[in-house]
Amino acid sequence: MPVAGPVRVRLAPSPTGTLHIGTARTAVFNWLFARRHGGQFLLRIEDTDRERSKPEFTTNILGGLAWLGLSWDGEPVIQSERIEAHRQAIAQLLESGHAYRCYVREEELTAMREAQAAANKAPRYDNRHRDLSPEQEQAFIAAGRQSVIRFRIDDGAAIEWHDLVRGPMRWAGADLGGDMVIARRAPSGAIGDPLYNLVVVVDDAAMAISHVIRGEDHIANTAKQILLYEALGLPLPQFAHTPLILNQEGRKLSKRDGVTSVSEFQAMGFTAGALANYMTLLGWSPPEGMGERFTLEQAAAVFDFERVNRAGARFDWDKLNWINGQVLHGLGAAELRRQLLPLWEAQGWAASGAIGSDPAWQEQLTELLGPSLTLLADGVEQAKPFFERPELNEAACAQLETEGARPALAALLGALKARRGVPLVPDEAQELLGAAAKAAGVKKGVLMKSLRAALLGSLQGPDLVTTWQLLHPSGEDLARLERSL
Ligand code: GLU
Repeated sequence: MPVAGPVRVRLAPSPTGTLHIGTARTAVFNWLFARRHGGQFLLRIEDTDRERSKPEFTTNILGGLAWLGLSWDGEPVIQSERIEAHRQAIAQLLESGHAYRCYVREEELTAMREAQAAANKAPRYDNRHRDLSPEQEQAFIAAGRQSVIRFRIDDGAAIEWHDLVRGPMRWAGADLGGDMVIARRAPSGAIGDPLYNLVVVVDDAAMAISHVIRGEDHIANTAKQILLYEALGLPLPQFAHTPLILNQEGRKLSKRDGVTSVSEFQAMGFTAGALANYMTLLGWSPPEGMGERFTLEQAAAVFDFERVNRAGARFDWDKLNWINGQVLHGLGAAELRRQLLPLWEAQGWAASGAIGSDPAWQEQLTELLGPSLTLLADGVEQAKPFFERPELNEAACAQLETEGARPALAALLGALKARRGVPLVPDEAQELLGAAAKAAGVKKGVLMKSLRAALLGSLQGPDLVTTWQLLHPSGEDLARLERSL
């Protein structure tokens, strides 16, 4: 469907937790849509829950979005700073008769819900204070009751919109749970804290949001919000409800599923490019021929809601790992080194003065390890024996006990000592190996296996000669050979 007028979308995270993968994926779709249409992607920090909102969560959310490359336009709007506008809108609704004060006590509501449950009815507010007479109101006030403010939702109201993902949507007012609270309890005359649906409508309208793109868990809210737009005389945005992210069992991904925060994925060693790529695939199918590997810019060039699925998107670790490996392998040694260096430094490696601080050496190490990395963190694990002398594992010890292993290593050590200080090039390394094996009367293969055991403490690892070359400039190859003897 063609988009008329300037596209202005927003992400409206609540800073009550770290940036969740679901929120980040919503951010991705908003960002892609804004980019596609040359529009603006705005942020609004919904911090009206004063007890649960924390500045460190705002920092985490903004940091996560920035890390993913989801740049936003302008300064984030801080919802709590807009409370006067929210109160004004509530006053307007009271004035126009769309809202009213409800003095029902908490105990009365509980009793009402219990009666509904006993009668097997869905819980809903029965609108009992909708049409109080002035005398009844006075009596409640005189009895010291406070009031919430409720927005009238007529049972007969028919709410319809064309959802950009889900197509035609219809809701009946009767299914929205009765008149909705839009302001918390407060002494009579005052307007208590404004609540979610009201503030979102007021803020989205003030920010001139053209398209509200959010998770499908907000569909019922959208129905209520449309009624609020109408009552406030505000122009309606378009709506797009994106599918939920599901866990392996097909249930909504939640904290119990372990890793759900963007910062946790980052700490695990996923790259921003891979995570953004993968999140785009969570609910969006790229057009034929595009493949599954792309940057956000590439996706933005073709993104539309017609290719957003309605069904929930199952989180697939294998695919994320695969994409991450692909991204790492495509980075090139220089960039990969740049990304690994802080992780190495955090281990106390690559400190200045030591051989491991030489950028050329680091790049050679990166080139050696790069092709086998799935996670950036693998580049820490696998780099470890190059920065720290490893213990010999069982298989390595056994290898050193095989016949001829130690004599061959001794011959190699002797030859190396004789040429101390000379850089090791692959051809010469092969010659040294051949000569030492011959001198000890073993096959070259036996020596190579033993050298790997001596250098890496394990029979597994990357290319042997490159490994040896990397350990050579510091004399670490000699030290490890000596130890093995
Ligand atoms: N603060 C809400 C949330 O985090 C915003 C929902 C919306 O986009 O309206 O779920």
